Amino acid sequence: MKSSQIDAYLEVITGAMFSGKTRELHRQYSVFKSCHFKVQVFKRDIDQRYSKDEIVTHDGLKFAKEDVFIAKTVDDIERQIKEDTDVIMIDEAQFYEPEIVKKVDEWVDNGKIVVLTLLPTDYRGETFGPAGDLLAHADKITQVFGRCLFLENGVYCHKPATKTYRKGDIKDIVVVGGAELYEGRCRKHHKIKDK
Ligand SMILES: [Zn+2]
Repeated sequence: MKSSQIDAYLEVITGAMFSGKTRELHRQYSVFKSCHFKVQVFKRDIDQRYSKDEIVTHDGLKFAKEDVFIAKTVDDIERQIKEDTDVIMIDEAQFYEPEIVKKVDEWVDNGKIVVLTLLPTDYRGETFGPAGDLLAHADKITQVFGRCLFLENGVYCHKPATKTYRKGDIKDIVVVGGAELYEGRCRKHHKIKDK
């Protein structure tokens, strides 16, 4: 498929940690692949298990190895974009520099579909890097939710989690971690510190 044949757009998949952003990205990846679109998936790190032909995420989602590219910076992404790529997917776009906002607009204007996953706020509830601008520039926003895991009297709150809560008392903004360090919380329970 020629890129010029596509009605290009920018879609942002946004949600707190454990809301299923990568799952939604993978769902769209599978749809594009079944339509024979050429897809490139950019990630800052690939720490998942490797198999011969696929990259498998911790959720067991499979991306073809030849479609996945490591890019630490926006320049790294741009350098690796192929002429005949139809769809550019970027995982964890909040970690890239502010110039990503201008660049994704350029890529869309040049006929590429761009789909990003985005953690909108950090554990304090502050806007994460370029997240606000990326949401403002999106043609389509898909918001996904996990469930609030605040436990009271043995029952989980279970409201949609729009915030990422960090357990413990670490002050650095960017600390990569999983469920041992973070959980989804609703607005009310994001403000409550664990005792
Ligand atoms: Zn809650």
